[in-house]
Amino acid sequence: MVDIPFSCSCGTVKGHLVDIDRKAGSRITCYCKDCQTAARALGREELLDDRGGSELYQTTPAHIRLDAGEADVACLRLSPKGLMRWYAGCCNTPLFNTLAQNKLCFAGVLVHSVAPEARAPLGPLIAQTFTKGAAGGVPVRQYGFAKTGLNILRRHVRAKFGGRAAMAPFFDPDGTPMRQARILTLEERNAARPE
Ligand SMILES: [Zn+2]
Ligand SMILES: [Zn+2]
Repeated sequence: MVDIPFSCSCGTVKGHLVDIDRKAGSRITCYCKDCQTAARALGREELLDDRGGSELYQTTPAHIRLDAGEADVACLRLSPKGLMRWYAGCCNTPLFNTLAQNKLCFAGVLVHSVAPEARAPLGPLIAQTFTKGAAGGVPVRQYGFAKTGLNILRRHVRAKFGGRAAMAPFFDPDGTPMRQARILTLEERNAARPE
């Protein structure tokens, strides 16, 4: 098991993905319009790949440790029911996605926050999801969606029974999120949405 550093673009918010081994998470690329909208709303469209994809490392909160810049962590939601999209307010770097409630031990880490040379322990890409949302060109192949769901459930169960179900740093034990999320207005969301 290894610890892998991550940071926002300006280096204010940083931490480690801890105790990483092959069971700790899975690496996927998501092409959904919501992930693209979030990056665009933060003015960080350049972090998407050339087809609009966001690479994510799906893991549990227990594998995420913030070391610095916690005060700069902010949260965005595309709608009142949207995912919690945690980002570094200092430089608008998207960092993590979680659900709105603390029921499922799940967090997606935006892989751009990990230096390319440190990514190997995150394992191979196992899925490309919501590829209908990919930006123009030949269709992007969709694969691995069911496997990502199964892995998320497996990790949740293992966290619950292994005593690593705490949702810090995102939620207090009583389920209160560490930040109040800013929710985009419909107008803001439509303005940020890709074609
Ligand atoms: Zn920053
Ligand atoms: Zn997505």
